[in-house]
Amino acid sequence: MQEIFQIAIDGPGGAGKSTIAKEVAARLGIDYIDTGAMYRAVACKLIRMDALDAEESYIEKILSDTKVDFSSGKTILDGIDVSEDIRKAEISAAASKCSALRVVREKLVSLQQAMGQRKSVVMDGRDIGTNVFTNAKYKFYLTADPKVRAKRRYDELTAKGQQVEFEQVLKDIISRDEHDMNRKLNPLKKAADAIEIDSSNMSIEAVVEFICKEI
Ligand code: C5P
Repeated sequence: MQEIFQIAIDGPGGAGKSTIAKEVAARLGIDYIDTGAMYRAVACKLIRMDALDAEESYIEKILSDTKVDFSSGKTILDGIDVSEDIRKAEISAAASKCSALRVVREKLVSLQQAMGQRKSVVMDGRDIGTNVFTNAKYKFYLTADPKVRAKRRYDELTAKGQQVEFEQVLKDIISRDEHDMNRKLNPLKKAADAIEIDSSNMSIEAVVEFICKEI
């Protein structure tokens, strides 16, 4: 029987986690799980239900009636493809907000644990190495200067035709980092046993190479 193992890649927004995690997974021939997309899908649903500020008990009820499927490489929320919608700036902020709620975290963390126990995965997020898979075989903490991260996010959004200001993107990144790092439940922080990579002056290819060499 083949060994099942997890590779955790955590870090702040715009550090390049998902591009890099996807590539590492492809090279190793294992699955990639984007946990940020899960929080984003929940945020999308709560906005649609006008429930972002609702009581946790109501949010719990909404979650029990929510179906999210990632199996096709797309994010399908209650049967609708929301892969593009979840990348919008307002969803980033809403995902950060709802990810601080206990009911949301408990539900998504247990789903993530189940996904990563069935087969080997590369999983990226904020709390994978510190909470979801504390025994992950490999842990990386990917970061970069906030201005570099904002520029990457800005380029990504404008390439998709979204009208955004660089200064606003930078402000959003900094405020989301602050929120994610200072929340009570599973805040973003480097796991003591994670390898830190500062990708400010590194290409995607160089980071992928570095990670694959470590593995
Ligand atoms: O990675 P991404 O930017 O798509 O994540 C969106 C938001 O989801 C983050 O700002 C964070 O608040 C939340 N998140 C989290 N835990 C994870 C992944 C994402 O709290 N494992």
